[in-house]
Amino acid sequence: MKTFPKDTLVKWIKELGLDMVGVADPKYYENIEPQWNPLSLLPTCKSIIVFAREIPRSHFRGIEDGTVFNRIKRFIGADEPYQICRRFEDNGFLAVPCTLLAQERWPDGIGKPGKPAPNVAIDPKLAAQLAGLGEIAYNGTFITPQFGPRQALGVILCDAQIEPDQPFVPNTICDRKNCKACVEACPAKAITEKTTTIDIAGHPTVIAIYNDKACKFCPNGAYPDTSCEAAPPNRIAAACTRACIACLEDSGKVKTNFKKPFRRRPPWAFDIFQA
Ligand code: SF4
Ligand code: SF4
Repeated sequence: MKTFPKDTLVKWIKELGLDMVGVADPKYYENIEPQWNPLSLLPTCKSIIVFAREIPRSHFRGIEDGTVFNRIKRFIGADEPYQICRRFEDNGFLAVPCTLLAQERWPDGIGKPGKPAPNVAIDPKLAAQLAGLGEIAYNGTFITPQFGPRQALGVILCDAQIEPDQPFVPNTICDRKNCKACVEACPAKAITEKTTTIDIAGHPTVIAIYNDKACKFCPNGAYPDTSCEAAPPNRIAAACTRACIACLEDSGKVKTNFKKPFRRRPPWAFDIFQA
């Protein structure tokens, strides 16, 4: 079968003001349960396209200095996925934008016999790692060599055959054995000593287990997940993730052109009952 030219996809991504794109091969979803599987949404899917947009560092700097608090979105809104889908459809292909809801919402209705219940909820971070953009870090955030944790993700499923990228190898950016700056940054000690290991394209990947109850009361930059009350909060601007931004920049693992370091004074942090 003729493949869709990847350079056309890259051109569209740039035109839409996005910064990164990768393509995950659906073969990696063979053993993923139907309720988390993109192939339940589009059985003819040949390419899982994941794109990212840098979140400006200034959005985090205000929170780091305790002067401005923003709710920082981890996922790209509906507009760019719509535009990409339109372009694929103009070229004769089917493309499905994914609404990135918390997996804790599932099941969100009653499914047809033999089908998973709605809403099938794919894991955007797993898709992004399989698409070669970066890795799921020890603290569970998604980090890339370009921006560390500072990007929002989007996913569309497409029946065009596009050359897939190689999955990103874990531990390339996140030094799980020696770093743990994220763990030390949390005054509530909500990143526990327990871990879980998931398989990502044959690579065992160790991820810390949080005390989600503590994180729900986090006074250090976390926000509730508005798609589901039962889901853990959005931690992208919380102390645990800001420590990760600082350590990745200071260690040179994420290269920046910024003249000043992200962290310029000892970080502020409250224990849960101090706030
Ligand atoms: S979200 Fe808040 S409470 Fe949870 S680990 Fe991060 S800093 Fe700690
Ligand atoms: S702070 Fe260190 S150990 Fe934690 S996620 Fe970031 S790089 Fe990994």
